[in-house]
Amino acid sequence: MPFSEVLDQPSATDYLKKSVLGRVPQALLFCGPSGVGKKKAALEFAKALNCLDPVARQNGDACGLCAHCKAIDNGTYPDVVVADFLYQARLELKKDPGDKGYEDELEKELAKQQRIKVDTIRDITAKSQQKSAVNGWKVFIVDEAQSMQTEAANALLKFIEEPPQKTVWVLLTDKKASMLKTILSRCQPLQFAPLPQETVQQLLAQTNPDVADPALAAKYAQGSLTRAQRAAEALEILQAAPQGPAWPAAAAAALPRTMTAARQDAQAVLDVVTLAVHRVWRQAQNEAERKACQQALKKLENYKIAVARNVSPALTVETALMGLDKLHIQI
Ligand SMILES: [Zn+2]
Repeated sequence: MPFSEVLDQPSATDYLKKSVLGRVPQALLFCGPSGVGKKKAALEFAKALNCLDPVARQNGDACGLCAHCKAIDNGTYPDVVVADFLYQARLELKKDPGDKGYEDELEKELAKQQRIKVDTIRDITAKSQQKSAVNGWKVFIVDEAQSMQTEAANALLKFIEEPPQKTVWVLLTDKKASMLKTILSRCQPLQFAPLPQETVQQLLAQTNPDVADPALAAKYAQGSLTRAQRAAEALEILQAAPQGPAWPAAAAAALPRTMTAARQDAQAVLDVVTLAVHRVWRQAQNEAERKACQQALKKLENYKIAVARNVSPALTVETALMGLDKLHIQI
């Protein structure tokens, strides 16, 4: 049953099953770190509301196999829309997917996305007013809801307050505190927890079979598949050379060539190294060691800010790693 594929979120999935069988709230807010199954749960919820299998529906779940479930999986079900940065990039590109070079242009457009804009919200709210194509439930999922521009959030307000019949909004966020109170007060919140390390390891092995050591990446993931995927990239860079004099330059040289990817991977490298320093700090034997760790952590925070502000990712990674030579961190 598909809800069982949303791993280790029993309270959220139980709530969703019960609401499929009983009363569906008009707006839900899934809160929790990225990479713990929020979007998957939203799609399973959409399936459960629209599944054609009466046996699955009796349990408030979906079969995962009928035409509706499959169309939702493939993103072709007309009444289920996921408004995320990819959706917005497609809208902004204003080109036909069949055009030459479309995928490359879409990737560039996607890398630019930072906020959910008012035009995107207007696009989906217009869709929410159209008649259902199949007379089922219409489900509108807004990812990264905390990133909505104020104008976008205000444009959404009246639609989540008074949606048409059989319409449900699902907002996803990893930063509930950054959202407008007016939006929060209209949504039923549902908390998603960080995943156990073994679950992250299992999911990483499934989604990224090329990762050499999923168990190690999961250790740096803090319960999030997204973080595990980033940590796996970072570990590959950090393992470009053994730790020693050649390590900082080798890691810097192993960063990707394009600026956007290099910046992302540099952040991931700094995150992994920060956790490794934390580990040394927790096991420190004396005050001098603890102080050295604290200073290193402070510097690492500054390096993260530097990378975000367009300082060369390679230079920052190299300098950051050179500053750690006396701490004996273990990656
Ligand atoms: Zn089904």
